[in-house]
Amino acid sequence: KANRAFHPDDSIFEIGGRKIGGKDIAIIAGPCSVESEEQIVGIAEAVKASGATFLRGGAYKPRTSPYAFQGLEAEGLELLKIARAKTGLPIVTEIMDPATLDQFVEDVDIIQVGARNMQNFSLLKQLGQTKKPILLKRGLSATIEEWIMSAEYIMAGGNEQVIFCERGIRTFENYTRNTLDLSAIPAIRKLSHLPIIIDPSHATGLRYMVEPMCAAAVAAGADGLIIEVHNNPEKALCDGPQSVTPEGFSHIISKVAKYAAVE
Ligand code: PEP
Ligand code: MN
Repeated sequence: KANRAFHPDDSIFEIGGRKIGGKDIAIIAGPCSVESEEQIVGIAEAVKASGATFLRGGAYKPRTSPYAFQGLEAEGLELLKIARAKTGLPIVTEIMDPATLDQFVEDVDIIQVGARNMQNFSLLKQLGQTKKPILLKRGLSATIEEWIMSAEYIMAGGNEQVIFCERGIRTFENYTRNTLDLSAIPAIRKLSHLPIIIDPSHATGLRYMVEPMCAAAVAAGADGLIIEVHNNPEKALCDGPQSVTPEGFSHIISKVAKYAAVE
């Protein structure tokens, strides 16, 4: 169902009055984690003013250490809803546990499947039973073929609104957090009609690389970007070193449009 051969035209999804796929570049921005009402509403207002089309923010966080901040969980979802009500930005947030599925279907505009759950097949099957758009991150060491098969797990259940997100893969290189596989953009565009967006924040782990990787992604034909933005990156509870400030975000957005790929 994801295969371009049976669906030659690009899929375009309309979500909360915004489009993903087609000629517009979707801009999803916000903090790694929702930390407080003031934080999420402030960031949402700032990124909206600079051109973001969706708000991101983790409520349930997949942290490497169980002793690290795990997210505000249900309260985080409530705060995202407040930020959406104040700005009109549709919300994107990660699901970890099928036990929260009904809540996510009710509250969230795009449900994110994190890299660590890309092959959680029972979760994918349950998402396939919903009608919600799914942002499917590439697994830490997943091949393009495995990633597309995970999209098929969702689509096989009848939910065809899947958006791929390349967020860097594991390689021998450890200067960057991961290695951004820009070649995933033309590969997915050739193999599938589904949109593909790029996460330069998790791909590099380094704030100064976010702008050049956004430019490269857009030039290579990405359908969108998902960028971590924090009002005070030094104090962020998660992923501060890769988070840009609202001012930095505004600068990036003013620059990237001119790199857009010519068809
Ligand atoms: C995230 O987007 O907050 C996240 C945890 O990303 P990933 O699953 O790509 O590591
Ligand atoms: Mn993060």
